Amino acid sequence: MAARRIVLLTLGWEDLPRSVSVHGAPPAERLREPTPGVLVETEGGWLLLDTGFNTALVRDPALRRRFFPDAEYVPVLPGAGEPVPEAMARAGIDVGDVVAVAVSHLHADHAGGLKLFAGRVPVHAQRREVDFGLRDPRAEAEGVFRIDFDDPRIDWRLADGDVEIAPGVRAVSTPGHTPGHQSFVVDVDDTRGGGGFVFAFDAADLTENIELEHPIGSFVDVSPEATVEQIRRLKRIAAERGYRLVPGHDPQVWPALTAELDQRFGTAGERTRPAAL
Ligand SMILES: [Zn+2]
Repeated sequence: MAARRIVLLTLGWEDLPRSVSVHGAPPAERLREPTPGVLVETEGGWLLLDTGFNTALVRDPALRRRFFPDAEYVPVLPGAGEPVPEAMARAGIDVGDVVAVAVSHLHADHAGGLKLFAGRVPVHAQRREVDFGLRDPRAEAEGVFRIDFDDPRIDWRLADGDVEIAPGVRAVSTPGHTPGHQSFVVDVDDTRGGGGFVFAFDAADLTENIELEHPIGSFVDVSPEATVEQIRRLKRIAAERGYRLVPGHDPQVWPALTAELDQRFGTAGERTRPAAL
C-alpha cells in the first residue's frame, strides 16, 4: 500500500533576496516564498514532512533579534497561532492524527515546529544533519537553531542515506544545501490514481533550479555546482518513475499544486473552514 492522499501546507512565508534560492542572482531582486509542509496519508496514519518556523523565535522581540538579525530575511507567520495545527485544520485533518514526522533538514523554516511533536511521535532525519546541528559551531550562523531540536524528548529515527520511512515514502539523501539534507519520493496508491511526486525541498527551491539547472544559493561545504548534481539526481529519479519533481519554495508552483492535490484527493472543500486552535 502506497500513499492514500497528499496535502500541501503553507506554514508561512519568507521575504528574501532571490540570491538565497539562486546562486548569483542580483541581491536587489526579492521574493516572497512559501514555507512548505507536506502531509502524506499512509497505511498507519498521517506523516508530516517539515514543520515550519518556531513561532516563539519569530514573535518574541528578544528572540527575534537574536535569531533573525538580518533585515534582508523576514519570516512571516500566517496567523496568530501555531501554523502546523492551523494549516492542518484548514485541510480538515487533526494534528493529533500525525503518527510520524520527517524533516528534510534543520533550517529554522523547516524544524521550528518539532516542539509540537517531541515526546509524541517518531521524527525521521539524516544522522549527519542532526550531528551538524548539535556539534558544528557554524550551525547557528547557517540558520540551524539548536533551540528548535535539541530536546531529549524527540524520538529521532536517524538514517545514513536513502531509506523508506513509511509505506510508499522514501527519503533520498541530497546533501549540499545542508550537510544532511534529504528529499522525499512519494508513491501514490493505484487505488488513488497511482503515480507519485518527488519533493525536493531545499535541494531545489524554485522551478528555475530544476528546469534551468541554476545552482541553489545556500549551501554548506560544497561548491554551487555540486548542488546541481543533487538536482540532476532528483530529476533522474522523477523521470524514471514518471513522477513530478516539486521545488521546495516556489511562489507559483506551491499554491498551484496545493489546489490541484486538494481537488484530486477531495480536501478542497475543507479549506474554507475556519482554522481551529
Ligand atoms: Zn533550507
